[in-house]
Amino acid sequence: MPGIHARYSPSHAAVWGTCTASVRAEENIPETDSEYAAEGTLAHAIAELKLCSRFGLLPADVCKSRLDMLRADPLYQKEMEEYTDIYADEIMKVCCAFPEKPYVIVEKRLDMGHIVPDCFGTADCIVLYGTILHIFDFKYGKGVSVSAENNPQLRLYALGAIGEYSVFGKIKTVFMNIIQPRIDNICSACMPAEELTAWGDKFGRRVKASIAAGGEFVPGEHCRFCKAKAKCRARAEMLLSAEEQKAREDRGEMLTDEEIGEVLLRAQLLAGWVKGLEEYVYDKLLRGEPVPHWKLVEGRSVRAISDINGAFAALEAAGYGSELLYERKPLGLTALEKLCGRKKLTELIGNYITKPSGKPTLVPESDKRKAFSQTRIAEMFKDN
Ligand code: SF4
Repeated sequence: MPGIHARYSPSHAAVWGTCTASVRAEENIPETDSEYAAEGTLAHAIAELKLCSRFGLLPADVCKSRLDMLRADPLYQKEMEEYTDIYADEIMKVCCAFPEKPYVIVEKRLDMGHIVPDCFGTADCIVLYGTILHIFDFKYGKGVSVSAENNPQLRLYALGAIGEYSVFGKIKTVFMNIIQPRIDNICSACMPAEELTAWGDKFGRRVKASIAAGGEFVPGEHCRFCKAKAKCRARAEMLLSAEEQKAREDRGEMLTDEEIGEVLLRAQLLAGWVKGLEEYVYDKLLRGEPVPHWKLVEGRSVRAISDINGAFAALEAAGYGSELLYERKPLGLTALEKLCGRKKLTELIGNYITKPSGKPTLVPESDKRKAFSQTRIAEMFKDN
C-alpha cells in the first residue's frame, strides 16, 4: 500500500529488534532518497513482473506492456534483466522440485501485528506446498552480504505468512531464502514452524515489554542502518567510552595483540561513525543551519573543457590530427556486462575471462567467509 509505512517495518527489524528505542529516535529524521534505493525499487518491479509472467499470475500481454514501461525508466540498466532472471530462476528451481505445482504468491502484504503492533510489510515471494512454506527476499544491493540465518526480517515475514495461510493446512517447515544476485549471494535457512513460532513469541514479548518501558538504546553494529546514527548519544558514548583506558598502569607499556585486535574493531566502528557525522554536518550547513566549529568552503576544482566539439575542431584546424587527439580504449568487464548482460558476455568471451585469487584481505572474525589457509598464502607469495 503506497504511502503507508509500518512503524515497526520488518526490513528494519535488525535495528528495532535490538535497539527498541530506535523507532522513537528516528522519528522526524527524513528519509534520504538515494539513486541506489530507486534502482532497487525498479529492479523489484521487474522481478515481480517476471514472476507473474512465468507463473501465469497476470496475462502475458499485461506483463509485457508493464515490463516495457519499466524498461523505459531512465534508471533501467540491461544488467537488471540478468539479475532478475537469476531471482526468478531460483524460485522456479524450488517450485520444480515439488511433485506438483505449488501455490505461488508474489508481492504479498503480510501483517505481523500479532507479534509486534504496527508491524507489517510486503514479502517478495511466497511458495506454499503441503506443509512447506518458502519465503523469498530479493536483495538488489551489493554493499552488505545479507545472511538468511537468524534474519529477523525473514522470520517475521514467515510468521506473517503462517498466520495468513495456515487456514489451508498446517505449515510444518519453513525455508527462508535470500537472493542477492549482484554479489552471488544465494542462501537459505530452514526452521520447523513450531520453533519459529516460539521465537516470534519470545521476540514479540521482549520488544513489546521494552517499548512499553520507553525503549532501550542498545548500540552495536546495527546502528549503521539507523537514521539516528549521527545524533544518537548512546552510540557516541559507546564509541567514545574511556573505560578501556582504565587501569592502564596494570597493563604493559605496549599493547598486546589481543588489545590491538579489539582496538581495530572499535576503530572501524569509529570510522563509520565519523563518516556519518560528516554527512550530517555537511547537510545541515548546506541547508544554511549553523553547526558550531564548522563551515563550508569552496573545494578544489578541476579544469574542464566547456565545449568539447568546438575545442577539438580548433585543435584539428591547427593541424593536430584526430589520431593525436583521440585514444581508443577497450571497455572493461563491468562496462561490457552492462552492454551485453553477464550471461551473453560469458557465452561470447567466457573463455577469455580469468579470475585470479584475491589478495588476502583483513576482515573481522565475524565475517562469514572462510579464512585463508597458510598454505594458500605461502603459494601466493612464493614468487615474491
Ligand atoms: S544509533 Fe544505534 S543505539 Fe542509537 S537509536 Fe539508532 S540503533 Fe539505537
